Amino acid sequence: MTRPQGNSLSMHKPQSKMQGVVFDGKLRFVTDYPVPEISPGWALVRVHITGICQTDLEITKGYMGFSGILGHEFVGTVEQCADSWWIGKRVVGEINAACGQCEMCDIGMGRHCPYRSTLGILTLNGCMADYCILPIANLREVPSEISNERAVFVEPLSAACEILEQLKPESWERAIVLGDGRLGILCSWVLSTALSDVTLIGHHPEKLKLAKWQHLKTTSKIDKIESGADIVVEATGSPDGINQAIELCRPRGTIMLKSTVATNCDLNLAPIVINELSLVGSRCGQFKDGLKMLETYPDMPVERLITARYPVEDAITAFDRATESDSIKVLLEMT
Ligand SMILES: [Zn+2]
Ligand SMILES: [Zn+2]
Repeated sequence: MTRPQGNSLSMHKPQSKMQGVVFDGKLRFVTDYPVPEISPGWALVRVHITGICQTDLEITKGYMGFSGILGHEFVGTVEQCADSWWIGKRVVGEINAACGQCEMCDIGMGRHCPYRSTLGILTLNGCMADYCILPIANLREVPSEISNERAVFVEPLSAACEILEQLKPESWERAIVLGDGRLGILCSWVLSTALSDVTLIGHHPEKLKLAKWQHLKTTSKIDKIESGADIVVEATGSPDGINQAIELCRPRGTIMLKSTVATNCDLNLAPIVINELSLVGSRCGQFKDGLKMLETYPDMPVERLITARYPVEDAITAFDRATESDSIKVLLEMT
């Protein structure tokens, strides 16, 4: 584990051009992108490390129609912002920049603000660059005992924590997580912190091996699994996942939908009605929950999920690596 970097970078003025990973119909690494300027209430963050996410891969296939600098998972250090307390702080950042003025924002639901922009996903340049900008309100300081390699998992880990936030499950409930990708593994770990009976089902023996932690059970034999689970998390990223989840869930149980697959799926609604299932969509979580999880469980082996790391100039190779089926999390390091 490398030592956390922080506090060493201070207020020097950034150069005007920067390196970045751009998608504008084509994925490119550039070295002449303008360094973003901050508006009042925003901070300029020097990026240390970023993660390539499934969402980034989807965007390169046209999802969200996004054009600009990619990336929303990062650890960085604040270099410029009006509130000097933040300068030099090592941070992660909530990805949705809410308008702060609409009804959703008023009730503290900025993540659902209809006027929001989203880092590297919706009308806001992302973090796969030397610098990114975010509202100061989005920043979360990373405690010194959490390394960059662990902190870069806060975004997906918080998304996994959202399940506990939405469901507030009882410890005796039985949960099944479908999908041994990064999100499925993180969901199964997070559920394991609250429930004693959690099974992760996937197709990749190597990934299932990596997923072993505490009392979590893992298997690739879905037909051997007893159905009737109280909670089924669908994180396969495949259109069939939802139908499998319906089969495994008990009457009046809950299915958490975690895949944002950019395709339509064939869905038979009858069993949902007959079994009175609750289908709950679940997306991003709050970073405070992800950070808390890393602090509370220093043995949660998130670093195990790092498949490879590349310097940012090798971004194209890194993206290719991230699309391979054995890949879980590919990191880009700013140089
Ligand atoms: Zn992500
Ligand atoms: Zn708003």
